[in-house]
Amino acid sequence: MEEFQRIILVHYHEIGLKGRNRGVFEKRLQKNLEALLGAYPVVTIHRISGRLLVFLREGTTLEVANQCTDAILGVPGVARASCGFKCDLDIKVMGRAACIALAEAEPFSTFKVSARRNHTVFPIDSMQMNRDIGEVLCERFPEKRVQMKGQDVTVGVEAVEGTAYVYARSVRGIGGLPVGSSGKVVCLLSSGIDSPVATWRMARRGAVPIGVHFSGRPQTSDASEYLVDDIAHVLERTGCIGRVYVVPFGDYQREISLSCPPSLRVILYRRLMFCVAEELARREGAGALVTGESLGQVASQTLDNIRATNDAVELPVLRPLIGSDKLEIIEAAQELGTFEISSMDAPDCCTLFMPRNPETHAKLEAVREAEVAFPVEEWVTALADAAEPHDYACPAYKPPSKSRR
Ligand code: ATP
Ligand code: MG
Repeated sequence: MEEFQRIILVHYHEIGLKGRNRGVFEKRLQKNLEALLGAYPVVTIHRISGRLLVFLREGTTLEVANQCTDAILGVPGVARASCGFKCDLDIKVMGRAACIALAEAEPFSTFKVSARRNHTVFPIDSMQMNRDIGEVLCERFPEKRVQMKGQDVTVGVEAVEGTAYVYARSVRGIGGLPVGSSGKVVCLLSSGIDSPVATWRMARRGAVPIGVHFSGRPQTSDASEYLVDDIAHVLERTGCIGRVYVVPFGDYQREISLSCPPSLRVILYRRLMFCVAEELARREGAGALVTGESLGQVASQTLDNIRATNDAVELPVLRPLIGSDKLEIIEAAQELGTFEISSMDAPDCCTLFMPRNPETHAKLEAVREAEVAFPVEEWVTALADAAEPHDYACPAYKPPSKSRR
């Protein structure tokens, strides 16, 4: 049987809308895919008129092509990926390639052909291409029906610069924007369920996430740090985390717990966390902090307490899950692949020195007053200096130069 080179066509609606920035977004997505698809037999990735074209090595099997497609679908910025073939710009050859592509899209019962002609050098217009290739497919698949609306499969045919690309199996991607197209953010990353989802959501909107994890060490074990590392490895698969700073926080919590009104402890821990995250953001050149908070979910997530913690920092604090229900967040964590890791028990600084009755409606004045007892600025510098960086493969991440310290 005739063999055609396999290709995967990557579509990206939202980037298409970005006017003059479009080239920058496309290049970013291209670079991200080039780096992330290292394990697959990719020859090269080209940009062609509003799509990226991934060329697979000759002889690549359907199975490997499908695995590569699945890897592409999880990458932020990918609206859809379609598997198919490169072939000669010859209507007969295109028809044969379309037959193979459509056979691989089974099971289906209805289909239509949708051709695009990018350069008018090809003498047959797209309407005629639809008819000609549709005819070949009807002959080859007599038991299937052509349907113009609501069809199961669309056979795409693109005539671009002397070459044709034909595909049928097409799957929706996670959408969003390519990581690295919206700046850097510092994400407060616990080993819980929520913050990994919040981090991933920011990456899907194009931000490069830098995690900060506050460990209870040396007052607790380092178990939570291993869970955070596992979580980061999940995010790393799709280029969604650049680095995680682990901050040994236990001794500072102990200090606070020894001489602050018990009800305000949690707020003061959290204010200190925010300040350290802000200092790391300054060193990284990041533009915002991110948390996994959801309104009212726990005592510290009331409006009053959110205000009392925000008050400690100047950077905007983004909370992508603020309006999400726990069940929705759990579903998102399952889809992302972090839920099982997050469900494991590990003491982190959250479980350390917890008061019996944490304040649910902290008064800003009382919080500020209680904080005066501590050398916050000095602590922030010491904690940021002690933060241990762990790097992950993220094509869009550039570590800060040392001079920012
Ligand atoms: P999560 O499931 O993300 O831990 P949670 O429901 O347990 O959230 P909290 O413990 O109140 O809620 O934490 C709220 C947010 O504060 C978290 O989503 C996270 O962004 C941040 N945070 C909490 N603990 C830590 C930690 N040990 N290190 C870094 N960030 C933390
Ligand atoms: Mg938590």
